[in-house]
Amino acid sequence: MDKSSFLKSQLEEGLREHEVMRDHTTMHVGGVADFYFEAKTTDDIIKAVDAALEIQIPYVILGIGSNVIFSDFGFPGLVIRNLTSNTAFMMEKSQVIVDSGVILQKLILDCVSHSLAGLEFMFGIPGTVGGAIYGDAGANGQAIGDYVKSVTLLVPGEDGEKSKVEQYPAEWFEFSYRKTKLKAMAGYNKPVILSVKIQLAQSRQEEIMRRLNVWKNKRMNNYPTGFSAGSFFKNPVPAGFESMPTGRKNMPQLPKERTAGYMLEKSGAKKLHQGGARVSAKHANFIINTEDAKADDIRKLAEQMRDSVRNKFDITLEEEVEYVGQW
Ligand SMILES: Cc1cc2nc3c(=O)[nH]c(=O)nc-3n(C[C@H](O)[C@H](O)[C@H](O)COP(=O)(O)OP(=O)(O)OC[C@H]3O[C@@H](n4cnc5c(N)ncnc54)[C@H](O)[C@@H]3O)c2cc1C
Repeated sequence: MDKSSFLKSQLEEGLREHEVMRDHTTMHVGGVADFYFEAKTTDDIIKAVDAALEIQIPYVILGIGSNVIFSDFGFPGLVIRNLTSNTAFMMEKSQVIVDSGVILQKLILDCVSHSLAGLEFMFGIPGTVGGAIYGDAGANGQAIGDYVKSVTLLVPGEDGEKSKVEQYPAEWFEFSYRKTKLKAMAGYNKPVILSVKIQLAQSRQEEIMRRLNVWKNKRMNNYPTGFSAGSFFKNPVPAGFESMPTGRKNMPQLPKERTAGYMLEKSGAKKLHQGGARVSAKHANFIINTEDAKADDIRKLAEQMRDSVRNKFDITLEEEVEYVGQW
């Protein structure tokens, strides 16, 4: 049986061939993935991963694609779009167990209706819970890793073995600024986050909503709209704090002059553009796809931005976003 027939026999409904990835990322670039599957349940994810392992093709799991740039040449394997959606609150412990495909924004609003506080500083960050854990997403000096108790992972089997579902404590992830052990693993066929246990705290709904609105307004005033992948580069982490673990209360607040956005602005990056992509006039660390940019335009523009900061500040910026596929 060929690969396509095998995948169809295993995944049936939800499997598509030759899917354009541009339609599944917030940057709106990217070529064709050989196979694309919408996983509605954890069992769907397990089936998809095992099928890819069986026929030895690469797989990658995708949330809403808000932190990835797919190549114009697409992805030579199976893209698994995560649409899992269960949430269970354990009120006596102020905890929630949530599927990795749940949209972060929805989770935060569900927490408000259960009078559970903690994640409101993330309100407005696009994406799924799984994507947020993978990259330790955060804002305003806080990050999701600070709230994680444990994670259920699907670990791919080696040498033709099936994948295994295993639980890991938060410490396993080595959460630090926009970095986790999972993100640091090379290549494709990485473990998949299936669900997450998050520790929250009881609070009054009005108080949670008040905080949530503060973050929401701050975001609306500072962040550009349009097709983007959010902040393109990470802020350079001060020496000695590269692997600051969870509970980052001791992480020094970066002075404004040390942020990627400030350095990009001061090195003239706001003037840069390439093909249909340009640096946002509102925030120099955002690349906006204004006119049907290619992934290649985005990558070339990112190189120009990195060069401009290197030339002026002698600092080499590192991407926060990830490049996926064949480049
Ligand atoms: C306008 C805008 C504003 C943003 N603001 C912020 C911000 O303030 N702070 C911030 O941290 N980020 C921000 N981002 C970036 C982005 O929203 C986050 O990184 C988000 O957490 C990505 O989630 P996602 O579901 O879209 O992941 P995707 O982009 O789909 O995937 C990102 C990576 O995570 C992996 N992944 C996804 N799900 C899983 C899973 N279940 N198991 C294992 N790996 C998985 C993918 O394989 C990929 O490598 C912003 C983006 C945009 C477009």
